[in-house]
Amino acid sequence: MVKNNLQQVEQNIESACKKAGRNRDEVTLIAVSKTKPVSLIEEAYVENIRDFGENKVQEINDKYPVMNKDIRWHLIGHLQRNKVKYIIDKVKLIHSVDSVRLAEQIQHEAEKNNVIMDILIQVNVANEDTKFGLSVEETEDVIRTIATFPNIRIKGLMTIAPFTDNPEDNRPFFKKLKQLAVDIKEKNIDNVTMDCLSMGMTGDYQVAIEEGSTMVRVGTGIFGERNYNKD
Ligand SMILES: *Cc1c(COP(=O)(O)O)cnc(C)c1O
Repeated sequence: MVKNNLQQVEQNIESACKKAGRNRDEVTLIAVSKTKPVSLIEEAYVENIRDFGENKVQEINDKYPVMNKDIRWHLIGHLQRNKVKYIIDKVKLIHSVDSVRLAEQIQHEAEKNNVIMDILIQVNVANEDTKFGLSVEETEDVIRTIATFPNIRIKGLMTIAPFTDNPEDNRPFFKKLKQLAVDIKEKNIDNVTMDCLSMGMTGDYQVAIEEGSTMVRVGTGIFGERNYNKD
């Protein structure tokens, strides 16, 4: 199942890239494996997927030790400050930094572990009450502050678009995130590159790619529906 799903997702990514006149290698597929067992992750691994996304610190900690070390783990969910220490040496990229306070904690733990942590800034472009993330208006100021932290590199922006049946509904939000990244890049802030745009999920990743996404986070489309009631 995972194999067939991945083939379908890959085709969709390729056609979206083609439509947008982009190269396939500009877009990284992150397989969102949250709630899914190691056996399914391994099915994706043998299909050459190396980027996996999890939204819980606990799950990364459970899966990390038993999976191959060439996997790049992405923390895509809300991160509590007291849990930063558990993932600082395990994840490739934290997508969900939405406050200076969280970044301070990441700086502290990164320094202790003698690593440089790559992060994205999460922006709530649709202004949904239920979502984490900075407003478009406050994003630049927060970035300017975090940019001074020596053990953090800001690589770009991330957003979670609203849940919708029609992916076209989210096109304006993807456009907005892209524009914000372009605007911030033009400011040439030290320690800040804006080359990563993490946007697009199962319902809307093709539209996100057309609007400039460089990282799509696909869960259901690869691993099937999630069952949260299982345990
Ligand atoms: C669960 C999740 C995804 C994947 O969602 P699907 O709709 O299953 O593709 C992507 N991004 C974040 C932040 C998530 O929490």
